[in-house]
Amino acid sequence: MNIIFFGPPGAGKGTQAKIIEDKYGLKQLSTGDMLRAEVSEGTELGLQAKEIMDRGELVSDEIVIGMIAARVDSPECSKGVIFDGFPRTEAQAAALDAMLVERGQKIDMVLELLVDDEALVARIEKRALEEGRSDDNIEALKNRLAQYRSYSAEVLPYYRAQGDVPAVDGMKPIDEVTAQIESIFASQEAA
Ligand code: ADP
Repeated sequence: MNIIFFGPPGAGKGTQAKIIEDKYGLKQLSTGDMLRAEVSEGTELGLQAKEIMDRGELVSDEIVIGMIAARVDSPECSKGVIFDGFPRTEAQAAALDAMLVERGQKIDMVLELLVDDEALVARIEKRALEEGRSDDNIEALKNRLAQYRSYSAEVLPYYRAQGDVPAVDGMKPIDEVTAQIESIFASQEAA
């Protein structure tokens, strides 16, 4: 089963992905986490990406598609993947579809996590104190939210053209959000 968690920065995609990963034996692939790992390892790619990430802009399709392509065949991904923070452009979505088709697979579900902007800002301010991410500051965040509005208007219609994109109320407590996600899984399995 291959799933996409789609939603703005701070929506809780990573939190939910980790819970679902453990329960269903899926593998979370977060392009944001992969990029931060490249930055902290000081790789060439990390050096290229850091400034762009710190501004809250999108790194190139080529880079993120390459990172995903390098991982989908790993044994950890054999039961399926939770894509978190990817795809963020139509080109990324199309590349992902092509990658999966080559492997006789597809995206089985796209979930949209909905959270108010005000709550997002509060969550990211809290995370800034806890984790110290260099893009968790008000300027970069404003830009990330603006980017989100723009790329969601590109990516959501792409998936809606393929089928339903159920929405999850991400304002609820963590366990209730998980319960909503699991009930969507169950209803899709029954369909
Ligand atoms: P968030 O969703 O909280 O903004 P992420 O950890 O998912 O944070 O991503 C952090 C940054 O990494 C983004 O602002 C962007 O610069 C870069 N990034 C992550 N995924 C992608 C992607 N699929 N395409 C382009 N840039 C990406």
